[in-house]
Amino acid sequence: MNGYYNGPSTSAPTGQAAGGVPGGIDVPAGKTNQPRLLVRNLNNQETTFHLSGVELAYANSFRRVMLADVPTIAIDQVQFAQNTTPIPDEMLAHRLGLVPLISRGVAKGLRYTRDCECDEGCYYCMVTLKLKVAFRGANGEKFMRVTSDMLEIVPSPGGPPPPNPYGPPPDLSEDDRQIINNRDPELGVPVGKGQPGVPPILLAKMGQGQEIDIVCKAYKGIAKHHAKWSPLSTVAFEYDPYNKLRHTTHWFETDERAEWPLSSNAVFETPLDPNEPFDYSAVPSTFYYTAESVNSIPVRSVVEQGLDLLIENLASVILAVQKETGVDEDEENNGDNGDPNGGGMIEPDFGNGTNQVDGYGGYGGDYGGGGGGSFGANGAQWGQQGSGMSPLRR
Ligand SMILES: [Zn+2]
Repeated sequence: MNGYYNGPSTSAPTGQAAGGVPGGIDVPAGKTNQPRLLVRNLNNQETTFHLSGVELAYANSFRRVMLADVPTIAIDQVQFAQNTTPIPDEMLAHRLGLVPLISRGVAKGLRYTRDCECDEGCYYCMVTLKLKVAFRGANGEKFMRVTSDMLEIVPSPGGPPPPNPYGPPPDLSEDDRQIINNRDPELGVPVGKGQPGVPPILLAKMGQGQEIDIVCKAYKGIAKHHAKWSPLSTVAFEYDPYNKLRHTTHWFETDERAEWPLSSNAVFETPLDPNEPFDYSAVPSTFYYTAESVNSIPVRSVVEQGLDLLIENLASVILAVQKETGVDEDEENNGDNGDPNGGGMIEPDFGNGTNQVDGYGGYGGDYGGGGGGSFGANGAQWGQQGSGMSPLRR
């Protein structure tokens, strides 16, 4: 059982929406060790895709990385010069923090303020917005709605000097220049501002004679620190819609199937055969994702950045383990582990050269002079008889 849909595959090009009709989608068939991504639906705001050939833990890591590790910008500090509305300052600041701001290209187009040399935010780590409104009671109106559309971008301190075609080029560091080149001109604009079809976000209601005069500082951040930095409103995946793996126990009164209807993803899998014996060793292999953006970043970019971040995170784990153990697979292949004192790798006792370790063969007494189960100068031939893989990469 591999969970793939093996039904008819016709002419619809991969990557195009096909309205959930299995015949129109070229779903990868058969078992594979390679991850496969099939995009069923993609627009600026939402996407539906299938990820197969990965383990459940990887699928969930991918979901969490997209939700919590992709950076955006959000209002983080608010300086109140005046607020005479009934809304307390703290509540207004909280509501401002939750307003989605356009964050395209923020990964390279803005610095985290903790990495910046400035004291209180600057052009390279901050977007500044101003909200200055007062209601004088025109046209017999009793109150006025204060919305996200009234937030105005103002220049942050310390920006690049204005271009001067006659003078020498400005003296900028390479890092600053990269930020200027990658900065989106709309960075920090409230999502939907000035777009007729998008209703603005209500921040407060203001009575006659009341006013708000505030300056907001928007910083780059990730949703691990606060949910307001999340680029997605929803990201979820489903697997095993027929519940063949029995990871779910359905409570029901009379008829399980009638009370728990199949999800729309069931059409991509082979139906449950009631006579089929339960497979205890089966694992989920295809994950049906849905992701919805808050429109600060296009959802496609969130998925791509999520994959990049996951690769980065996994690589940093491998590097950290290698640093801790002093073993690098590439060096091992040269037969030189680079540590003449035999320090580094701490392993169980393979010392007599007769132990066969499952999967990567014997160590063949190839250790150098180091003691205590560590590799010597010319040791560490992991793959002599076995799979050729380091235990770190198994
Ligand atoms: Zn700064």
